[in-house]
Amino acid sequence: MMKNVVDKFIRYAKIDTRSDEDSTTTPSTSKQRNLARLLVEELQAMGLSDAQVDENGYVMATLPSNIDREVPVVGFISHMDTAPDASGENVNPQFVENYDGSDIPLGNHAVLSPSDFPELLEYVGQTLITTDGTTLLGADDKAGIAEIMSAIEYLTNHPEIEHGTVKIGFTPDEEIGRGADKFDVKRFGADFAYTLDGGRIGELEYENFNAAGLTVNVFGRNVHPGTAKNQMINAITLGMEYDRTLPHDQRPEHTEGYEGFFHLMDFQGTVDSATLRYIIRDHDKVKFEQKKMLAKHTADYLNEKYGKEIIVVELADQYFNMKEKIEPVKYIVDIAEQAMVDAGVEPVKNPIRGGTDGSKLSFMGLPTPNIFAGGHNFHGIHEYVPVPSMEKAVEVIVNLVKNVTRLEK
Ligand SMILES: [Zn+2]
Repeated sequence: MMKNVVDKFIRYAKIDTRSDEDSTTTPSTSKQRNLARLLVEELQAMGLSDAQVDENGYVMATLPSNIDREVPVVGFISHMDTAPDASGENVNPQFVENYDGSDIPLGNHAVLSPSDFPELLEYVGQTLITTDGTTLLGADDKAGIAEIMSAIEYLTNHPEIEHGTVKIGFTPDEEIGRGADKFDVKRFGADFAYTLDGGRIGELEYENFNAAGLTVNVFGRNVHPGTAKNQMINAITLGMEYDRTLPHDQRPEHTEGYEGFFHLMDFQGTVDSATLRYIIRDHDKVKFEQKKMLAKHTADYLNEKYGKEIIVVELADQYFNMKEKIEPVKYIVDIAEQAMVDAGVEPVKNPIRGGTDGSKLSFMGLPTPNIFAGGHNFHGIHEYVPVPSMEKAVEVIVNLVKNVTRLEK
């Protein structure tokens, strides 16, 4: 299992699949199809004869059941693209064998140091795969792809292992928030699925933020500053007042765990008009709705204070906490947890402070918790993945497939 997952990972990591948020096509970059084509070839070579890439660049394949009773259909999903934040061209993975806990010179004057990233010390004695200091590594999420591919290969090489129908899905454009958009849940045909898109070993995630975007439009009145007394309304200062009126402690830099926030991401303004763009996040649905109400009430309060409608807010929901879709089928988390324990991995269940493709898929009718793929420091030159974490992920997938055969359809 071991050599295979590493070889696969290196092969996939070397293919540039960076996505592009400014593109309007799907996939956002046609180079993602290079990896999609390779994966289809490899899946077919393993005997998954229906493997294909669709017109939007999604790869889907089926490992048929080898038992004669009906059990649920389980899916495994990873994304093929890498983040637009850093170069994915000429990725040149480096091996650090038997890591001794010291600084790792990456090249290009970059260093991967436990003084910056203390969790490195948890991997002393292990083989790590790092970047060469010039690109990201793409363990997010090619580690996940390599792990799924290795697990499928293992199952096809071990026909004595009983399994039901297993579906494989590789998506483009996760990093630009579009990975689930054109995912054909019906064609995929799974009862539930798992994304292999988490970080450190043991991660098992089924709670994420509820998310909304807030745009605050401020309308001022520009008058010559020399004669502005009691006349001018400065949209910039009003925008600042709006922001000050929101709760100071509910900002990203002051929150963690289950604490939600208002995050001011962009503020453009002149005396005439200003626009503030926020994101609102909270795991708790009630608190999420309260935050949206507060955004409106803050505008109402200032409009009343100034005696005219000078602030107009627009709110748009973006995604929701998958927990409400997972809770009714909580056993899918339980069997994943058991799969980890059986592989000697301690499950770590923390709420995601963001969203996943799985949260969108869960609301599209495919409950999809997230499992670790093993990497760290995503989206930059300090990205790395410990080889044993990848091997354990393969084992967890195989265990999960076994656990599904104990469920009733
Ligand atoms: Zn990812």
